[in-house]
Amino acid sequence: MLAKSLPSFDVVVVGGGPGGFSAAVAAARNGSKVLLVERYGFLGGMATAGLVNPFMPFHVNSRAIIGGILQEVIEKLREMGGYDDKTRAFDPEIMKYILERIALEAGVKILYHTCFLDTVVSGGGFIRAVLLHNKSGIQMVEAKVFIDGTGDGDVAASAGAPFEKGRNVDGLMQPMTLNFDLANVDQKMLPSREELNRAYREAKAKGEITCPREDVLWFYTTHEGLIHFNTTRIIKVDGTNAEDLTRAEIEGRRQMFELVSWLKRTFPAFKNAYVVRSGPQIGVRETRRIIGEYILTADDILTAKKFPDAICRGAYPIDIHSPTGEGTTLKYPPSGDYYEIPYRCIVPLNVENLLIASRCISATHEAHSAIRIMPIVMGIGQAAGTATALCVKLDTTPRKLDVGLLRRTLKQQGAIL
Ligand SMILES: Cc1cc2nc3c(=O)[nH]c(=O)nc-3n(C[C@H](O)[C@H](O)[C@H](O)COP(=O)(O)OP(=O)(O)OC[C@H]3O[C@@H](n4cnc5c(N)ncnc54)[C@H](O)[C@@H]3O)c2cc1C
Repeated sequence: MLAKSLPSFDVVVVGGGPGGFSAAVAAARNGSKVLLVERYGFLGGMATAGLVNPFMPFHVNSRAIIGGILQEVIEKLREMGGYDDKTRAFDPEIMKYILERIALEAGVKILYHTCFLDTVVSGGGFIRAVLLHNKSGIQMVEAKVFIDGTGDGDVAASAGAPFEKGRNVDGLMQPMTLNFDLANVDQKMLPSREELNRAYREAKAKGEITCPREDVLWFYTTHEGLIHFNTTRIIKVDGTNAEDLTRAEIEGRRQMFELVSWLKRTFPAFKNAYVVRSGPQIGVRETRRIIGEYILTADDILTAKKFPDAICRGAYPIDIHSPTGEGTTLKYPPSGDYYEIPYRCIVPLNVENLLIASRCISATHEAHSAIRIMPIVMGIGQAAGTATALCVKLDTTPRKLDVGLLRRTLKQQGAIL
């Protein structure tokens, strides 16, 4: 079947998660004609499709270290009553609406229900076009610069960028989690976290709970009586393998109802609770990590390393949910300090007109576990989008871009650097 050609764009962003959304908005605001391709019918990626909540901390000594588009989204969420400053929880339905409004107002053309299929690469590592698939058939879209916001590095991998997966020792990646919300919880009756976890461990020992996770991870939401659970754990699965994803969805749902049924019969607070929603897709923490001009390491995170070509800051720790069973490893950067992410981490090797605006930047398994949180990915996305727009304006490639100019532009537009 022949692909139908769509009009060409300056920038095509594939994936409308926190990274891809921020990249598309930044590129459009900096003068590019932008197409944002998303496989679902809404933006947000894990924040909406994975029902991930809340924003993990992006502060040092109570001061935000990530500004720009992230702060704008928070402000708009607040205006609609969809954000809690204390817990950093947000309402996912309001999030979908706000991301879409911001993107449209920036002039981004959104194409929903469309999957990335392949890249058309010409000599010298230049992507000429992407092939897309949707209800209208197969389409080809040309652009000057492309952005991979798929989380999984689908575009980069297909264009020939090198990548790694999993930890060094055995290639295993972080587990997946089906997130869900329980409504009608009697919050006044909630057991303490210690009490809940003690009972959970006892239930595990008796075989009533078969989830590999060591404790119950739950969060308050923006609504009274609605509690968010990030507790199911599906190990030894690969988010770039459709059969693994299917197995993970089935196992995640099984674990969810096992846990809910146990909560309901064990604690009066949950007696009348019910599952009001689970993520439309299983939460995928880690897949490909695209190798770029620099690979961010655990040492960089733990020594709060600064870089001359920094595009974003972070203070979130190394946070690895065990790929094999129980346990979560947390290792913190020095208290009161932050690390930086260099521009080189979003410039993939081998491909000349592509940037990464996603969790799959060039980092080790350990460093990835820190930089993957939504606020940091939004900062990375804003930088990637701004960089592509500058490349279009200056008729240059991401590898040759003047990073000083990029940093100045980012700072003028609210980034904290
Ligand atoms: C279970 C879980 C819990 C987490 N907890 C937290 C938390 O509490 N706080 C926090 O801040 N972070 C948390 N994170 C991390 C965070 O949610 C993700 O790392 C972050 O969303 C990554 O953003 P992204 O834009 O790179 O990718 P994603 O959010 O995965 O977005 C990628 C987007 O690309 C689209 N896409 C993918 N492939 C294609 C394709 N081939 N064609 C078209 N579109 C495509 C997807 O539909 C999606 O919209 C959690 C993650 C998980 C999985």
